[in-house]
Amino acid sequence: MAGVIGRPVRHSLSPIIHNAWLAAAGVDGVYVAMSPAPDRLAALIEGLRGGAVRGLNVTLPYKEQALALADQVSDRAAAAGAANLLVFAEDGRVLADNTDGHGLLAAFAVQAPALRPADAPVVILGAGGAARGAAAAFVAAGAPQVRLVNRTRAKAVAIAEALGAQIKVFGWDEVSSAMAGAGALVNATALGLEGGAPLELDLAGLPQEAVVMDMVYRPLLTPLLIRARASGRMIVDGLEMLIRQAEPSFEAFFGQPPPASVDARMLALTAMGYPA
Ligand code: NAP
Repeated sequence: MAGVIGRPVRHSLSPIIHNAWLAAAGVDGVYVAMSPAPDRLAALIEGLRGGAVRGLNVTLPYKEQALALADQVSDRAAAAGAANLLVFAEDGRVLADNTDGHGLLAAFAVQAPALRPADAPVVILGAGGAARGAAAAFVAAGAPQVRLVNRTRAKAVAIAEALGAQIKVFGWDEVSSAMAGAGALVNATALGLEGGAPLELDLAGLPQEAVVMDMVYRPLLTPLLIRARASGRMIVDGLEMLIRQAEPSFEAFFGQPPPASVDARMLALTAMGYPA
């Protein structure tokens, strides 16, 4: 058994993806969504040390707390300052990991394979948990500079202090200078989410060959991605990241990679209401 915890968690695509992988792999297992109240999170994780559950994915708003509750933390989870994966070891210990950065870079590798992260600076919009994880992943991948653009400057400064000299902080009013010479731009804010505030961004300052990625995947093609594509740029969508972060999670839970026979993207798109 494995699962995902978040609040809200009802719209999570993870149960659909993991249960399809379980069925195709012939594993006698199940993956469920859980939504503990904030003051019950620690008790829930404590109770799972018994070993009945192999592990949990963690989504908003619990990624930072999950990291703090673990007994052992992987280097990439420490760098991200958050855990999207908890594994319950047989001896009762809780191990924290983070596969979001892997998912982000794997999504680029699938949808924009020509991008080499080490070749040019990367612009990341946001300074929340997702932005920090993305910044850590690009630093680890050798990006010469990671430019964080955030409304609340102090949060970006804190990430720069944690991750080192490759991080450069910009305000929203400086976004066009942040875009100069960049090889990729990643939206790691919640702006552009269906029914939420729009992301207003003029892409004119971004090099034509730069790849544009949006972590927001509802809608699949956000206004940012539509504008980037219309201007002839390569795009990477947040759904690909979601699927790619799930792959190492499945392997951590069930000891084998997800079966290649499942079209997880098609399943997710159908669940999101897109026609096949
Ligand atoms: P978070 O910690 O709450 O951070 C939200 C970020 O958005 C902050 O930088 C915040 O700026 C910024 N923001 C929010 N409203 C804004 C506004 N009106 N104007 C300017 N900036 C605004 O959230 P998170 O965990 O980092 O997640 C960010 C997004 O990434 C979410 O949409 C999440 O669903 C998505 N995500 C997707 C994947 C995937 O697999 N595709 C994985 C992880 C996350 P301030 O600091 O100024 O408040």
